[in-house]
Amino acid sequence: MYLEIIRDAAFYRVLFAIDQDLAEETRREGCPFCGGALHYAKYPRVGRGGPDGLPGELRQRLGLCCGRPGCRRRVLPPSCLFHGRRWHWGAVVLVAMTLLQQRTSGWNVDRLMGKLGISASRTTLVRWLRYFRASFPSSAWWQRIRGRVGAEVGDAGLPGSLVAHFERATGDPARGLVASLRFLALGGHPPPGRHA
Ligand SMILES: [Zn+2]
Repeated sequence: MYLEIIRDAAFYRVLFAIDQDLAEETRREGCPFCGGALHYAKYPRVGRGGPDGLPGELRQRLGLCCGRPGCRRRVLPPSCLFHGRRWHWGAVVLVAMTLLQQRTSGWNVDRLMGKLGISASRTTLVRWLRYFRASFPSSAWWQRIRGRVGAEVGDAGLPGSLVAHFERATGDPARGLVASLRFLALGGHPPPGRHA
């Protein structure tokens, strides 16, 4: 089911629409460094692991740039499509890790590599796994949002426990995945200058 969702172009259009809303909210707040007006600056991204033929419009990390001379700082609004600097879509990373964590489902790294058809090497997938097991639970990213979900989202099962939580909350795998990505986006990109 999750693999079908991340192969569906419509899913990425939904995420892009959310990214546009999040970027617009950030733009309206103005520059967090000087209060100046923010302008759009779009950054093309690779977006690996999704369906073929996604329009270039979706392969953009929406960014903002302060227009005030002397500041001109770059501000990155939250994004559901892209997490951090990874080349793969955030949804692809999330689904790959969730499937690998569901031990009863029979997924393993080799089978997933074949199915996803992504250029992610075994090393990359193992690195993602290690990151979610060892670093993510104690990261500032997770700590910023951790309190907004209940204790049933166990640190040990991240990110699969988070995806399962939102699937239960929304009653639908695709909507749960969107909610998970939006939730992660809000923790992943705190407004600069306002957080430690
Ligand atoms: Zn500024």
